[in-house]
Amino acid sequence: VKKIYTAARVVTCDAARAGSSADSAGAGSPLGVIEDGAVLIEDARVAWVGRASDAPRDVDAEDFGARVITPGLVDAHTHAAWAGSRDGEYAMKMRGADYREIAAAGGGILSTHRAIAAISEEDLARDLAARLTRMASLGVTTCEVKSGYGLTRALEEKQLRAIATAAKNKRAPHVVPTFLALHALPAEARDGADAKEKRDAYVDRVVTEHVPKIADAKLARFLDAYVDANAFTVDEARRACDAATARGLSIRLHVGQFADIGGARLAADVGARSVDHVEHIGNADARLLAEKGVFCTLLPIASFTLKQEPPPVAMLRAAGVRFVVASDANPGTAPSESLPLAMAFAVRFYGLSPDETILAATKHAAQSLDEPERGVISPGNYADLVIWDLPHEHAIVQPWGTSKIARVIRDGLLLAD
Ligand SMILES: [Zn+2]
Repeated sequence: VKKIYTAARVVTCDAARAGSSADSAGAGSPLGVIEDGAVLIEDARVAWVGRASDAPRDVDAEDFGARVITPGLVDAHTHAAWAGSRDGEYAMKMRGADYREIAAAGGGILSTHRAIAAISEEDLARDLAARLTRMASLGVTTCEVKSGYGLTRALEEKQLRAIATAAKNKRAPHVVPTFLALHALPAEARDGADAKEKRDAYVDRVVTEHVPKIADAKLARFLDAYVDANAFTVDEARRACDAATARGLSIRLHVGQFADIGGARLAADVGARSVDHVEHIGNADARLLAEKGVFCTLLPIASFTLKQEPPPVAMLRAAGVRFVVASDANPGTAPSESLPLAMAFAVRFYGLSPDETILAATKHAAQSLDEPERGVISPGNYADLVIWDLPHEHAIVQPWGTSKIARVIRDGLLLAD
C-alpha cells in the first residue's frame, strides 16, 4: 500500500539533509527539516522523502496542513514491565522517610520484585501491553524494555517472556528487550555474617547461569547492570558484561547515578552502546565515551523525582558525547510513561536545546539500540512517524503535560490517533 503524508514541516533527523540548501531548514539545523514536505510510504517502509511539490502525483495523499511530522519517538531506557504500585512508599518519602525506613517497610526494588513474583506471566504481559499502548499514544514507536525485577533466573525469564509476548503486538511500539542482569541483591543475599559469600554466590550464578541461559534463549538483545555505590561493583559488572558479549549480547549500563565508581570506563572498555544516568562523571571519562562512540542516556524524570543535581551536560557536550533522552519509566524513581515529559525536562532542567533533545529521542536513541532503520525519516527505513498537532517541532518540549499527537504510525501501521 502506498500513501503520501504532507505537512508544513517534515523533521527528518537525517544528517544528509541537515542544513542542505535544497531544503529550507537553514544552515546549522541538525534536524534536516523540509518545509512543505512529503513522506511517501510503501507498506512498512519509507519509499521517498522530499518537497510536497516534487512528490509523485498518482498516490493517495493526506495533507496535515500546518502540522509537524517527525520520526517516531524512541524510548531507549525503560523498566516498563513492572507490576504493583509504589504510591505508598512515595507518600512515606514525601513525609521525610529515608530509604532505610522505606526498605524496612518493604519498599524499593524488592517491593516490585515481590509483585513480579506474585503476578501471572499472562497478566504481566497484558499490563505491559497496555502500558506500551499508552506510550504509543504519546508518540513512542520503539521502546526498550528491561527485566531486572525478577532477580532469580526463573523470574527474570518470566519477565522477559512477558516482554516477548507484549512485543508481538504489531499495533504497539517495536520492543527491544534488555536483560538487566544485576539490578539489586535478592533479600536473602543481603544480611548475616556470610553476606559477602552469599553476594559472591549470587553474582556467580548470574554470570555463569542467568546470562548464558537467557542469551541462548534469545530473550534479550542487550545486557544491563547497575554499576553504582550501593549497587554492583565494576568488577562484578565486568564479569556479567564479558559473559554477555561472549554470547552475542550488546551492553548498556546504569552508571554514575549516585557516585562515580568507574562505570563509564568499564562501559568504554567493554564496548557498551550506552551509559545511562551519568549524574556523576569526570571529564576524562566523558572524552573516552565520545572517542569510543558510547552514547550518554539522560534520564531527567529520575533526577527530578530524586531531587538530584543534573548531569554535567555542558562538559559532556564539550567532550563530544552524543545524548539520548529516555523516560526511565519505572514504578519508583521515574513514575511516568511519558518520553515527551522527559524531553521537556531535558530542556528545562538539563539545558539541552530543543534540537538536541529531538535528536536524542529519535536518531540517537535508535542508534544506541542498534536500530539504524528507525529514528530517521529516510528512504528504506521503517515508516515510523509522528504527526504532531503542533505548529513547530520545538513545541514538542514546550508546553508539556498533555498528548499532542495527531497520528502515530509504526511500520506503516496506525498505532494511535
Ligand atoms: Zn533505569
